[in-house]
Amino acid sequence: MIPKAFDLSGRVALVTGGNRGIGLGFAQALAAAGADIAIWGTSAEKNAAAREQLAATGRRVETFVCDVGDEAAVEAAFAATLAALGRVDGCFANAGVSGRGGKSFTEMSSEEWRRVMRVNLDGAFHTFRAAARHMVERGGGGSLVGTASLAAIHGAARSEHYGATKGAMISMVRAMAVEFARHGIRANAVLPGWIETDMTANAIGNEKFAGNVLPRIPLRRWGRPQDFGGIAVYLMSDASAYHTGDSLLIDGGYSLY
Ligand code: NAP
Repeated sequence: MIPKAFDLSGRVALVTGGNRGIGLGFAQALAAAGADIAIWGTSAEKNAAAREQLAATGRRVETFVCDVGDEAAVEAAFAATLAALGRVDGCFANAGVSGRGGKSFTEMSSEEWRRVMRVNLDGAFHTFRAAARHMVERGGGGSLVGTASLAAIHGAARSEHYGATKGAMISMVRAMAVEFARHGIRANAVLPGWIETDMTANAIGNEKFAGNVLPRIPLRRWGRPQDFGGIAVYLMSDASAYHTGDSLLIDGGYSLY
């Protein structure tokens, strides 16, 4: 039984990058709380696998192949999402790519800079713009949630581009929170710490890295995609009706220590 304030029955959540990792963690909990789900990703196979995993929730799940860095593709996918599910109440701009660490900032090519900006920042802009436009036109409010990162506030050496996109995500969310509050639309950012997903598999699988980082996480484990379910349901539901413009750090205490 879901407490009423957290009940998402009759609502629709769009999760970009929802076919695995943190996005799938969001989607699983949102569906369990009663929301119908739209998932966007570039891989049709991964979208289909996620749809299968979510089938057990009994909710409607629609997937769309969409590269969020492509403005026209986002407009088309948003229209297709509305055609399939009728509305979007919660928009999770979560799709992202990591920096290809290793090289110093002094050696970073413009192509590498643009590769990360294109998905993480342009992608969030395209996605949020379409969702905010829809929510304003429809009326009745909504929730915009951006996946930022601890890298927005920690110095992410050799990943200046990645850190910059995540810092910008926080700024974009704060600006949207003010601009759209009059429409009952809230905007918040989630900042994950070190979470076990495909994105971090190499780092977390590296013994030296794990030996350095794990002892500095007070909760003494890597985060898991399921650790992001509670915050997703909270931020989309009436339970967070007066909560906007915030950056919520979910890092097992890593940043404290
Ligand atoms: P992941 O497992 O690698 O998943 C990334 C997701 O983004 C996939 O669903 C992928 O789907 C999608 N995606 C990538 N490029 C896309 C594009 N151009 N258009 C649409 N979808 C795209 O990574 P994750 O760890 O769950 O990361 C999710 C978010 O959390 C990212 O924004 C990441 O920066 C952030 N984050 C992660 C960590 C961590 O420790 N894992 C920490 C801080 C922040 P396709 O492959 O189908 O495109």
